[in-house]
Amino acid sequence: MSSAAPFRVVNPATGAAGSPHPYASETELEEVISGAVAAQKLWARTGVQARAAVLKRAARFHRDHLRDFATTAVREMGKPISQALAEVEFSADINDYYAENAAAFLADEPIALQQGSGTAVIRKQALGVVLGIMPWNFPYYQVARFAAPSLAAGNAVLFKPAPQCPDSSRLIADAFTAAAAPEGVLHRILASEDQLAGIIGDRRLAGVSFTGSERAGAIVGGLAGGSVKKTVLELGGSDPFLVLDVADLAPVVDAAVEARLDNSGQSCNGAKRFIILEDRYDRFVQAFVGKLADIAPGDPLDDATVLGPLSSVRAAETLASQVERAVTAGAKVLLPSSRTGAFHTCGVLADVTGANPVHHEELFGPVAIVYRAADEADAVRIANDTPFGLGSYVFTDDAAQANRVANALETGMVYVNGVGLDAVELPFGGSKRSGVGRELGALGIREFVNHQLIRTV
Ligand code: NAP
Repeated sequence: MSSAAPFRVVNPATGAAGSPHPYASETELEEVISGAVAAQKLWARTGVQARAAVLKRAARFHRDHLRDFATTAVREMGKPISQALAEVEFSADINDYYAENAAAFLADEPIALQQGSGTAVIRKQALGVVLGIMPWNFPYYQVARFAAPSLAAGNAVLFKPAPQCPDSSRLIADAFTAAAAPEGVLHRILASEDQLAGIIGDRRLAGVSFTGSERAGAIVGGLAGGSVKKTVLELGGSDPFLVLDVADLAPVVDAAVEARLDNSGQSCNGAKRFIILEDRYDRFVQAFVGKLADIAPGDPLDDATVLGPLSSVRAAETLASQVERAVTAGAKVLLPSSRTGAFHTCGVLADVTGANPVHHEELFGPVAIVYRAADEADAVRIANDTPFGLGSYVFTDDAAQANRVANALETGMVYVNGVGLDAVELPFGGSKRSGVGRELGALGIREFVNHQLIRTV
């Protein structure tokens, strides 16, 4: 076991570092796992209404401590305060949503028999103890997306936060303690990668939910598959934003800016590649570059800030080096960007060919790539020319075109004529290298349950 202490807040806006939090000892982890196994058995028998009441109280705790939760996230990873407040509200909404809908989602589903007498139903049983490995970019929302439906279904939850999120994860654990969740039903674990590999392989665990990069997701998914465990993988994305047969470009440009800059450009389903039909490319790009040029990074605690620092100096360095590599490989700079500490200004690149390394990478920050498409088919071809398949955005005045293009896009989500439309009832997830499984909505609670067939004659 490593003795390093990597869980630590380093405020990306100021560089101020908090105290380090050590990894849990092997003895502590063993106690947590055996406690979770015992607690889960009782929790599953508690009944959905009692579990829902805990989720309701946890939601209330999020709202009662809204500003504390939000400023903690700002300190940990730098997101603008207005967006941090919205994230905490959304996380509370997710807990409420599963509290209010779990009974219906978990109800027995009858099957119409083709022949023979009697009945057949699918019952949704809790799976057991589920491990969540979580990223830093939405420290509350990601945990709620995985934990709320899992708990509602009767599972116990262990979650490992990202290294820079020891304080937000502590607040989530506090919310469930305050909500009188039975001891052991939800536990935050500060574990190393080696320790996680052991936990994933532990036969007492039933499933693993991972949100983060494709690289780490492939490792975690491989470990979980090797020990025959159900997994949900929510990975990276390079979502296309298609500007097709649309007459009024002004609101589309505003939507494009919003979709690129959400979470300071660090959203998995932020728009990252902008694909515009030839006949409106110049007008769109001129307006888009103009708007981005006017947005400078600022103090994330200022209510008016739209773009904060990136999550760390390292994250900003990675983005700057991707831009540099793109330019070396022939990309044209339409809006030059620069880095100061963890702050990275907006940038726009064009002429990124298939041979350019960034064409197939995720740019996690406020840098956009624009592509000129000859026609609708060419726009779809460019959109699908990526290893990722998370979300996509289609702007058009033609409903038939929207429908046709949605059919052709290889993505888990298609948003037509709008951005920022994520909602508790809408399933979230990707295809291709963006992952496996869905969170939120009715589909989200189906991931970590045993769909038990009961056939009675
Ligand atoms: P990351 O580096 O993959 O880390 C995610 C989590 O995995 C962290 O807790 C990390 O902790 C852990 N981890 C990394 N390597 C691991 C390993 N070998 N074994 C076990 N755990 C490991 O990703 P990130 O930088 O935090 O998050 C950004 C990425 O997440 C982006 O690609 C973004 O698109 C994606 N994302 C996807 C969604 C979605 O819903 N599809 C949502 C949010 C974010 P350590 O660093 O301590 O190992």
